[in-house]
Amino acid sequence: MPLSLNRLDCNGESIGKDFHHYLSCHLGRFQDGPPVYFYHALAYALRNRIMPDWSRTAAGVGSVPGVRRAYYLSLEFLMGRALGNTLLNLGITNETEQAMLDYSLKLEEICEHETDAGLGNGGLGRLAACFMDSCATLQLPVMGYGIRYEYGMFRQHIEDGHQIEDPDHWLRDGNPWEVERSEYTQRVHFGGRSDAYHDAQGVLRMHWVDTCDVLAVPYDMPIVGYRNHTVNTLRLWRATATDEFDLSEFNAGSYTESVRDKNNAEHITMVLYPNDISENGKELRLRQQYFLASASLKDVLRRWQSLGHVEFAQFAQDNVFQMNDTHPTIAVAELMRILLDEKGVSWGLAWDITTRCMAYTNHTLLPEALEKWPVSLFERLLPRLLEIIYEINAHFLREVSLKWPGDVDRQRRMSIIEEGEVRHVRMAWLAIVGSFSINGVAALHSQLLKEGLFRDFVDLWPGKFNNKTNGVTPRRWLAHANPGMSALISSRIGEDWVADLTQLEKLKPLADLENKAFHADWHATKHANKERLAALVRAECGVTFDPAALFDVQVKRIHEYKRQLLNVLHVIHLYKRIKHGHLDGWADRCVLIGGKAAPGYAMAKRIIKLVNSVADVVNNDPDVDGRLKVAFLPNYRVSSMEIIAPATDLSEQISTAGKEASGTGNMKFMMNGAATIGTYDGANIEILEAVGEDNFFLFGLRANDVEALRGHYQPQTYIDADSDLREVIDLLAAGHFNPCEPGIFDMILDAVRSPHDPWMTLADFRAYVDAQQQVARAWQDQASWTRMSILNTASSGFFSTDRTMQEYNRDIWKLQPLPH
Ligand SMILES: *Cc1c(COP(=O)(O)O)cnc(C)c1O
Repeated sequence: MPLSLNRLDCNGESIGKDFHHYLSCHLGRFQDGPPVYFYHALAYALRNRIMPDWSRTAAGVGSVPGVRRAYYLSLEFLMGRALGNTLLNLGITNETEQAMLDYSLKLEEICEHETDAGLGNGGLGRLAACFMDSCATLQLPVMGYGIRYEYGMFRQHIEDGHQIEDPDHWLRDGNPWEVERSEYTQRVHFGGRSDAYHDAQGVLRMHWVDTCDVLAVPYDMPIVGYRNHTVNTLRLWRATATDEFDLSEFNAGSYTESVRDKNNAEHITMVLYPNDISENGKELRLRQQYFLASASLKDVLRRWQSLGHVEFAQFAQDNVFQMNDTHPTIAVAELMRILLDEKGVSWGLAWDITTRCMAYTNHTLLPEALEKWPVSLFERLLPRLLEIIYEINAHFLREVSLKWPGDVDRQRRMSIIEEGEVRHVRMAWLAIVGSFSINGVAALHSQLLKEGLFRDFVDLWPGKFNNKTNGVTPRRWLAHANPGMSALISSRIGEDWVADLTQLEKLKPLADLENKAFHADWHATKHANKERLAALVRAECGVTFDPAALFDVQVKRIHEYKRQLLNVLHVIHLYKRIKHGHLDGWADRCVLIGGKAAPGYAMAKRIIKLVNSVADVVNNDPDVDGRLKVAFLPNYRVSSMEIIAPATDLSEQISTAGKEASGTGNMKFMMNGAATIGTYDGANIEILEAVGEDNFFLFGLRANDVEALRGHYQPQTYIDADSDLREVIDLLAAGHFNPCEPGIFDMILDAVRSPHDPWMTLADFRAYVDAQQQVARAWQDQASWTRMSILNTASSGFFSTDRTMQEYNRDIWKLQPLPH
């Protein structure tokens, strides 16, 4: 009899029964057991219900030759929790809630027991997660490939105002969503040397020999589409030692040495590097990158060949790879190596195939993010890959010199190998040379890339470059995170907006002030969300937020370019205004700041300390009397953003113009009805265009102003010209916030007072304070604020990753959706 799976019932009774079965028969627990097992039992019950559609989706995509597929290669997938979102996408939240109530359990509390899958740092990793959700919802045959880190993003707690990092052993209790597929294990090579030989036809070929191998074992996670029976796959690789690793040494009596080798293999996928943006050039990181690229490419080739394909010329018609930043771009050289060395394809055909199936997304212009690996490291770790990169470069430089004969300077600039005392491989250049599509992540960012960093390449290949403005998935970030507002929206415009966010436009007429009932409902929903956040802040920070006050929020990775410091300077200014009794146009505010600093980023860590020190003074000064509250929320992550975004009135997006490639936090806030105070940067510009300047608090220098000012920036002139700024700087310099720890904020003062401050924080102080004063005045008219809030949500349709994915598909991937 053929094995086939039938869909299980999704009614409450059936889910409840399965839940009980898993809890007692599988996990051996009962209702008085640790509540984390309720989560596991429910997750298993749902997994059963996903499995038939999952295997049918895989079969539909996998068994039909000629179905073109895309692969999203990313070192990061910041997935967060799966349970609540899965229920939403399956459309069985209410039934499940009821089923749990029958066991006297609250679904919301069960969901709290799921540990976030924190396999990413910030925006880049979360983008990959939102893309996965949208691809499944659009029924696009897209598979994610990533790394199953044993330890994800570190957990942050605050001690004496300082960030302390704790390891995130997220798999400790097991992961009910993953399916290990050891049958698809791949072997990845490292080290060794390259060896020439003549094949049976007498052709000179290369072999990579004497390698030190590591096994890549795949773990699959289901990506459930929104109510469409499509379940795509995120495949995460775990490194493990080869079976034969220990035999020789074991037989030679060095048992412990052989186990050490095993550990070395497993180290590759032990920990996520916690640096957002900046790279630190560690060998293990390059190992991770190659491990992901090699295992994923081999897996794709295996599947493609298993469908009966033999003509490699066809490969690029069937497959396309999207590389999330330069992190996985060693894939360009690895695909060449596999085709040349393992499949016997000629150089010309291999290069044609590679450059027709690779596409690259750039995520930042900041120079510290540009990955460069020392040639010597490549030589030791990936000698065969280095040879191939040299040959790619030689072919490429020939093309450059044909187009610009004698332009040696251009050749030097464009070379994949950077010359110098230490020679480096420029990964971004490898990606550009090897890809048919190169995109930035917001209109301004793509424009700046073309004018700056990538200019030489644009001259050579203008058609390769394009823009794909980021988005966020409205399932997680509105429907799931904000059930109150979702229900309100659906009650007025129906439910179709969840899969077609442009429908939110229909809310625009309801924003008019005469729609009193809708306004009242909208305001009440916001208020309830603010109570939920206030409870979290109270529990985590011991600070009481009044939901009637303006919730002014900046949550994101702590980085100087994002200018949390500018926010703090404004808070100090507000504090001074209270002390002076300058309360004209005042709005009571609760300022929330949250985010992780890279463990090696001393300045970012000191900024966290400053936020906490300022919060201590402000929150404990009786003169402040509830007019201002400040809190630093520890351990900012996906599940906390699900509570924060729906409760925010004012979204802080205040990066130095030209530095934030896109931002996606800005979109989550907008979707949930927050107004933005922001610079003319990244996707802020497109948000401003969508919602209109009357509903956005724009301030500050533009990207071209910033560049024009560079070289003659004089922060002291801003201090001299502005008594408010002077007062803030003086208070900081006097040690008002650090009486017991003199000097700890000197590094911050020195940075903002330096003519070399790349972020030009003080240049934007006055404009920022003025814009904040406009915010306060706008807040005083609550009816018109609610109108602005509704208009923000109503105008956010463009920022759905459904739109982003449709654009990637239209311009780059060219996949056919596969209806179930
Ligand atoms: C959305 C998100 C980010 C990105 O925020 P930006 O403001 O765009 O930097 C980072 N971390 C988490 C947990 C997020 O949900």
